[in-house]
Amino acid sequence: MILMICEMCGKNVTFLKKVTIEGVMLDVCSECAKFGIESKKETPKEQGPRPIIAQRLEFREKRARPRDVLERMEKEDIVEDYAQRIRIAREKLGLSQKELAMKINERVTILSKIESAQMRPDEKIIAKLQKELGIVLKEKIPEVVAAKESARASLTLADLIKMQK
Ligand SMILES: [Zn+2]
Repeated sequence: MILMICEMCGKNVTFLKKVTIEGVMLDVCSECAKFGIESKKETPKEQGPRPIIAQRLEFREKRARPRDVLERMEKEDIVEDYAQRIRIAREKLGLSQKELAMKINERVTILSKIESAQMRPDEKIIAKLQKELGIVLKEKIPEVVAAKESARASLTLADLIKMQK
């Protein structure tokens, strides 16, 4: 059985399809072929002085981080264990709930609810707590899609280097 390498994802497959993706003709696996136009009428544009490898890498980069994924990746959300983090940080500083509430200018009932995870603090309270306690309560939410895509991109890069040798 002859295995060929998909020029897009680097997977070893037995069958490659010729497709045009963003003006670049590639031999890809059937899965990646979905992203392109099957090369029948569309002739790829003059490739210019840039080596094909650079173009492909550039293209892959684009594919690995499409705009929507980037936006979602940049989205910050409150950490899941915010209640615990706040309580631990407060106790470390030797502050009572009441004392901390006073420091951040919030009612103690609010703080108590936050610390028992009955209430998610709003942006304003998050900012105040982070500053007062010196902790991080927000994190970038990694997208499963993004993680998969970049793993695929790095794998392909390694394959490309292999192919170049
Ligand atoms: Zn593929």
